[in-house]
Amino acid sequence: MLRAVLLILATAAPTWAGGIAVVTTSTDLQSLVRAVGGDRVRVTSLAPAIHEPHAVDVKPSQLAEVKAADLLVRIGLDHEPWLARVLTIVNEPRLAPGGAGDLDVSRGVHLLQTETPRVRSERGGHVHGFGNPHYWLDPENARVITASIVEALARLDPVDRAGFDLNRQRFLAALDTRLARWLAATAPYRGTRAVVVHESWPYFAERFGLVIVAAIEPTPGVPPSPSSLAALTQHMKATRVPLLIAEPESDTSVVRRVTAASGARPVVLIPSVGGDPAAPDYLSLFDVNIARLAEALSARP
Ligand SMILES: [Zn+2]
Repeated sequence: MLRAVLLILATAAPTWAGGIAVVTTSTDLQSLVRAVGGDRVRVTSLAPAIHEPHAVDVKPSQLAEVKAADLLVRIGLDHEPWLARVLTIVNEPRLAPGGAGDLDVSRGVHLLQTETPRVRSERGGHVHGFGNPHYWLDPENARVITASIVEALARLDPVDRAGFDLNRQRFLAALDTRLARWLAATAPYRGTRAVVVHESWPYFAERFGLVIVAAIEPTPGVPPSPSSLAALTQHMKATRVPLLIAEPESDTSVVRRVTAASGARPVVLIPSVGGDPAAPDYLSLFDVNIARLAEALSARP
Protein backbone atom coordinates (compact mmCIF):
# COMPACT_ATOMS: atom_id res chain seq x y z
CA MET A 1 0.00 0.00 0.00
CA LEU A 2 2.71 2.44 1.05
CA ARG A 3 4.71 1.36 -1.96
CA ALA A 4 1.76 2.13 -4.24
CA VAL A 5 1.33 5.58 -2.72
CA LEU A 6 5.03 6.30 -3.17
CA LEU A 7 4.81 5.17 -6.77
CA ILE A 8 1.87 7.48 -7.39
CA LEU A 9 3.76 10.38 -5.81
CA ALA A 10 6.84 9.65 -7.88
CA THR A 11 4.99 9.47 -11.16
CA ALA A 12 2.53 12.25 -10.44
CA ALA A 13 2.47 15.14 -12.88
CA PRO A 14 5.39 17.57 -12.68
CA THR A 15 5.96 18.57 -9.07
CA TRP A 16 6.07 22.25 -10.02
CA ALA A 17 3.09 22.20 -12.37
CA GLY A 18 1.90 25.54 -11.00
CA GLY A 19 5.41 26.96 -11.16
CA ILE A 20 7.91 27.30 -8.34
CA ALA A 21 6.60 29.89 -5.86
CA VAL A 22 9.39 32.38 -5.23
CA VAL A 23 9.40 35.41 -2.95
CA THR A 24 12.24 37.91 -3.24
CA THR A 25 13.12 40.81 -0.97
CA SER A 26 13.52 43.26 -3.86
CA THR A 27 12.18 44.00 -7.31
CA ASP A 28 15.71 43.61 -8.69
CA LEU A 29 15.93 40.02 -7.48
CA GLN A 30 12.37 39.45 -8.71
CA SER A 31 13.46 40.50 -12.19
CA LEU A 32 16.56 38.27 -12.10
CA VAL A 33 14.54 35.26 -10.88
CA ARG A 34 12.09 35.87 -13.73
CA ALA A 35 14.95 36.07 -16.24
CA VAL A 36 16.25 32.67 -15.12
CA GLY A 37 13.02 30.91 -14.17
CA GLY A 38 10.86 32.06 -17.08
CA ASP A 39 7.43 30.43 -17.04
CA ARG A 40 8.55 27.87 -14.44
CA VAL A 41 8.36 30.42 -11.63
CA ARG A 42 5.78 32.66 -10.00
CA VAL A 43 7.70 35.41 -8.25
CA THR A 44 6.71 38.34 -6.08
CA SER A 45 8.79 40.96 -4.27
CA LEU A 46 8.28 41.91 -0.63
CA ALA A 47 9.76 45.38 -1.14
CA PRO A 48 8.07 47.83 -3.51
CA ALA A 49 10.15 49.51 -6.20
CA ILE A 50 10.60 52.67 -4.14
CA HIS A 51 11.24 52.47 -0.41
CA GLU A 52 13.73 53.54 2.23
CA PRO A 53 16.96 51.68 1.51
CA HIS A 54 16.66 49.30 4.47
CA ALA A 55 13.06 49.63 5.68
CA VAL A 56 10.06 47.75 4.27
CA ASP A 57 6.51 47.41 5.60
CA VAL A 58 5.38 43.88 4.84
CA LYS A 59 1.60 43.52 4.52
CA PRO A 60 -0.39 40.59 6.00
CA SER A 61 -1.20 39.32 2.49
CA GLN A 62 2.52 39.17 1.80
CA LEU A 63 3.10 37.09 4.93
CA ALA A 64 0.82 34.45 3.41
CA GLU A 65 2.89 34.55 0.21
CA VAL A 66 6.07 34.00 2.19
CA LYS A 67 4.50 31.10 4.08
CA ALA A 68 3.51 29.45 0.79
CA ALA A 69 6.85 30.10 -0.92
CA ASP A 70 9.11 27.30 -2.11
CA LEU A 71 12.05 29.68 -2.21
CA LEU A 72 12.98 32.97 -0.55
CA VAL A 73 15.66 34.95 -2.42
CA ARG A 74 17.38 37.76 -0.54
CA ILE A 75 20.29 40.21 -0.76
CA GLY A 76 21.76 39.06 2.58
CA LEU A 77 24.45 40.80 4.68
CA ASP A 78 22.46 43.30 6.79
CA HIS A 79 20.48 44.70 3.86
CA GLU A 80 17.10 43.46 5.16
CA PRO A 81 16.88 44.17 8.91
CA TRP A 82 13.07 43.95 8.56
CA LEU A 83 13.13 40.35 7.33
CA ALA A 84 13.88 38.67 10.69
CA ARG A 85 10.49 39.78 12.03
CA VAL A 86 8.73 38.46 8.92
CA LEU A 87 10.41 35.06 9.28
CA THR A 88 9.56 34.88 12.99
CA ILE A 89 5.87 35.47 12.20
CA VAL A 90 5.85 33.05 9.27
CA ASN A 91 7.71 30.41 11.28
CA GLU A 92 8.83 28.18 8.40
CA PRO A 93 12.28 26.77 9.31
CA ARG A 94 13.01 25.89 5.65
CA LEU A 95 12.89 29.64 4.79
CA ALA A 96 15.09 30.67 7.74
CA PRO A 97 18.75 31.52 6.98
CA GLY A 98 20.49 28.32 5.90
CA GLY A 99 17.19 26.46 5.35
CA ALA A 100 16.47 24.45 2.19
CA GLY A 101 14.23 27.21 0.79
CA ASP A 102 16.54 30.11 1.60
CA LEU A 103 18.83 31.70 -0.98
CA ASP A 104 21.26 34.45 0.01
CA VAL A 105 22.63 35.69 -3.32
CA SER A 106 25.48 37.65 -1.73
CA ARG A 107 27.50 34.44 -1.63
CA GLY A 108 30.21 34.61 -4.25
CA VAL A 109 29.89 38.37 -4.78
CA HIS A 110 33.07 40.42 -4.35
CA LEU A 111 31.98 42.93 -1.71
CA LEU A 112 33.11 46.54 -1.34
CA GLN A 113 33.50 48.58 1.87
CA THR A 114 34.00 45.51 4.04
CA GLU A 115 36.15 47.63 6.33
CA THR A 116 33.15 49.83 7.38
CA PRO A 117 33.14 49.46 11.15
CA ARG A 118 30.07 47.80 12.58
CA VAL A 119 29.06 50.50 15.03
CA ARG A 120 25.46 50.81 16.12
CA SER A 121 24.47 54.41 16.40
CA GLU A 122 22.19 55.47 19.23
CA ARG A 123 19.49 56.01 16.65
CA GLY A 124 19.92 52.38 15.61
CA GLY A 125 20.04 53.21 11.93
CA HIS A 126 23.38 51.78 10.99
CA VAL A 127 23.57 49.13 8.30
CA HIS A 128 26.34 48.07 5.85
CA GLY A 129 28.26 46.43 8.71
CA PHE A 130 29.29 43.37 6.67
CA GLY A 131 30.31 45.18 3.48
CA ASN A 132 28.16 47.33 1.22
CA PRO A 133 24.97 45.38 0.36
CA HIS A 134 23.96 47.37 -2.76
CA TYR A 135 25.94 45.02 -5.02
CA TRP A 136 23.17 44.42 -7.60
CA LEU A 137 23.93 47.92 -8.91
CA ASP A 138 27.02 46.61 -10.70
CA PRO A 139 25.52 44.75 -13.67
CA GLU A 140 28.56 42.44 -13.71
CA ASN A 141 27.34 41.03 -10.39
CA ALA A 142 24.22 39.72 -12.15
CA ARG A 143 26.45 36.88 -13.43
CA VAL A 144 27.08 35.40 -10.00
CA ILE A 145 23.58 36.26 -8.71
CA THR A 146 21.88 34.45 -11.61
CA ALA A 147 24.26 31.48 -11.21
CA SER A 148 23.06 31.14 -7.60
CA ILE A 149 19.45 31.40 -8.76
CA VAL A 150 19.94 28.63 -11.35
CA GLU A 151 21.34 26.34 -8.65
CA ALA A 152 18.49 27.04 -6.23
CA LEU A 153 15.75 26.58 -8.85
CA ALA A 154 17.37 23.41 -10.21
CA ARG A 155 17.55 21.95 -6.72
CA LEU A 156 13.78 22.35 -6.42
CA ASP A 157 13.05 21.36 -10.03
CA PRO A 158 15.96 19.27 -11.45
CA VAL A 159 14.05 18.39 -14.63
CA ASP A 160 14.14 22.02 -15.77
CA ARG A 161 17.83 22.68 -15.08
CA ALA A 162 18.76 22.90 -18.77
CA GLY A 163 15.97 25.42 -19.34
CA PHE A 164 17.18 27.58 -16.45
CA ASP A 165 20.73 27.44 -17.81
CA LEU A 166 19.57 28.42 -21.28
CA ASN A 167 17.48 31.31 -19.92
CA ARG A 168 20.51 32.54 -17.98
CA GLN A 169 22.77 32.36 -21.04
CA ARG A 170 20.26 34.38 -23.06
CA PHE A 171 19.98 36.94 -20.27
CA LEU A 172 23.76 37.28 -19.98
CA ALA A 173 24.12 37.72 -23.74
CA ALA A 174 21.64 40.60 -23.60
CA LEU A 175 23.48 41.98 -20.57
CA ASP A 176 26.80 41.94 -22.44
CA THR A 177 25.33 43.87 -25.36
CA ARG A 178 23.84 46.53 -23.10
CA LEU A 179 26.90 46.73 -20.86
CA ALA A 180 29.05 47.68 -23.86
CA ARG A 181 26.56 50.45 -24.62
CA TRP A 182 26.46 51.69 -20.99
CA LEU A 183 30.26 51.75 -20.76
CA ALA A 184 30.49 53.70 -24.02
CA ALA A 185 27.87 56.22 -22.82
CA THR A 186 29.71 56.84 -19.54
CA ALA A 187 33.25 56.79 -20.96
CA PRO A 188 33.46 60.61 -21.38
CA TYR A 189 32.66 61.12 -17.70
CA ARG A 190 35.07 58.65 -16.08
CA GLY A 191 36.72 60.14 -13.02
CA THR A 192 33.81 62.49 -12.24
CA ARG A 193 33.57 63.10 -8.50
CA ALA A 194 30.20 62.75 -6.79
CA VAL A 195 28.57 62.98 -3.39
CA VAL A 196 25.75 60.53 -2.63
CA VAL A 197 22.86 60.77 -0.19
CA HIS A 198 22.90 57.07 0.85
CA GLU A 199 25.86 54.80 0.11
CA SER A 200 23.92 52.83 -2.52
CA TRP A 201 26.30 53.46 -5.38
CA PRO A 202 29.86 52.16 -4.77
CA TYR A 203 29.42 49.19 -7.13
CA PHE A 204 27.75 51.28 -9.82
CA ALA A 205 30.45 53.95 -9.43
CA GLU A 206 33.29 51.46 -9.71
CA ARG A 207 31.84 49.95 -12.88
CA PHE A 208 31.10 53.26 -14.58
CA GLY A 209 34.07 55.30 -13.40
CA LEU A 210 32.54 57.71 -10.89
CA VAL A 211 34.51 58.66 -7.79
CA ILE A 212 32.30 58.95 -4.70
CA VAL A 213 33.95 61.38 -2.32
CA ALA A 214 31.38 61.55 0.48
CA ALA A 215 27.85 60.65 1.60
CA ILE A 216 25.28 63.02 3.07
CA GLU A 217 24.28 60.36 5.60
CA PRO A 218 27.21 60.38 8.05
CA THR A 219 26.55 56.68 8.70
CA PRO A 220 24.35 54.60 6.39
CA GLY A 221 20.72 55.05 7.36
CA VAL A 222 21.37 57.98 9.70
CA PRO A 223 20.25 61.48 8.61
CA PRO A 224 22.87 64.24 8.78
CA SER A 225 22.98 66.80 11.57
CA PRO A 226 22.72 70.45 10.47
CA SER A 227 26.41 70.98 11.29
CA SER A 228 27.66 67.92 9.35
CA LEU A 229 25.48 68.95 6.39
CA ALA A 230 26.89 72.48 6.46
CA ALA A 231 30.47 71.19 6.64
CA LEU A 232 29.91 68.79 3.75
CA THR A 233 28.26 71.46 1.61
CA GLN A 234 31.15 73.82 2.27
CA HIS A 235 33.64 71.11 1.32
CA MET A 236 31.72 70.32 -1.89
CA LYS A 237 31.75 73.98 -2.86
CA ALA A 238 35.46 74.43 -2.06
CA THR A 239 36.50 71.33 -4.00
CA ARG A 240 33.94 71.88 -6.79
CA VAL A 241 32.23 68.48 -6.60
CA PRO A 242 30.07 68.54 -9.75
CA LEU A 243 27.43 65.90 -8.94
CA LEU A 244 25.05 64.91 -6.14
CA ILE A 245 23.42 61.49 -6.53
CA ALA A 246 20.01 61.30 -4.84
CA GLU A 247 17.35 58.58 -4.89
CA PRO A 248 13.55 58.83 -5.29
CA GLU A 249 13.01 58.63 -1.52
CA SER A 250 15.81 61.06 -0.62
CA ASP A 251 14.82 64.13 1.40
CA THR A 252 14.25 66.62 -1.41
CA SER A 253 14.67 69.67 0.83
CA VAL A 254 18.15 68.44 1.83
CA VAL A 255 19.05 67.73 -1.80
CA ARG A 256 17.83 71.16 -2.86
CA ARG A 257 19.73 72.94 -0.09
CA VAL A 258 22.99 71.09 -0.76
CA THR A 259 22.91 71.58 -4.52
CA ALA A 260 21.93 75.25 -4.22
CA ALA A 261 24.70 76.00 -1.74
CA SER A 262 27.44 73.83 -3.27
CA GLY A 263 26.81 74.31 -6.99
CA ALA A 264 26.70 70.52 -7.56
CA ARG A 265 24.19 69.27 -10.10
CA PRO A 266 21.58 66.84 -8.70
CA VAL A 267 20.70 63.56 -10.39
CA VAL A 268 18.09 61.13 -9.09
CA LEU A 269 19.17 57.57 -9.83
CA ILE A 270 16.81 54.68 -9.13
CA PRO A 271 18.27 51.90 -7.01
CA SER A 272 15.61 49.33 -7.94
CA VAL A 273 13.62 47.94 -10.85
CA GLY A 274 10.26 49.71 -11.19
CA GLY A 275 11.54 52.98 -9.70
CA ASP A 276 10.67 54.55 -13.07
CA PRO A 277 8.01 53.29 -15.51
CA ALA A 278 10.80 53.02 -18.09
CA ALA A 279 12.64 50.51 -15.86
CA PRO A 280 10.38 47.45 -15.65
CA ASP A 281 13.29 44.98 -15.51
CA TYR A 282 16.93 44.64 -14.50
CA LEU A 283 18.47 45.70 -17.82
CA SER A 284 16.23 48.73 -18.27
CA LEU A 285 17.12 49.82 -14.72
CA PHE A 286 20.61 50.55 -16.05
CA ASP A 287 19.28 52.04 -19.28
CA VAL A 288 17.41 54.62 -17.19
CA ASN A 289 20.24 55.33 -14.74
CA ILE A 290 22.92 55.64 -17.43
CA ALA A 291 20.68 57.97 -19.45
CA ARG A 292 19.96 60.16 -16.40
CA LEU A 293 23.63 60.27 -15.48
CA ALA A 294 24.77 61.15 -18.99
CA GLU A 295 22.09 63.83 -19.24
CA ALA A 296 23.12 65.43 -15.92
CA LEU A 297 26.83 65.38 -16.77
CA SER A 298 26.52 66.48 -20.38
CA ALA A 299 24.53 69.52 -19.23
CA ARG A 300 27.32 70.51 -16.85
CA PRO A 301 28.58 74.06 -17.47
ZN1 LIG B 1 22.33 50.84 2.21
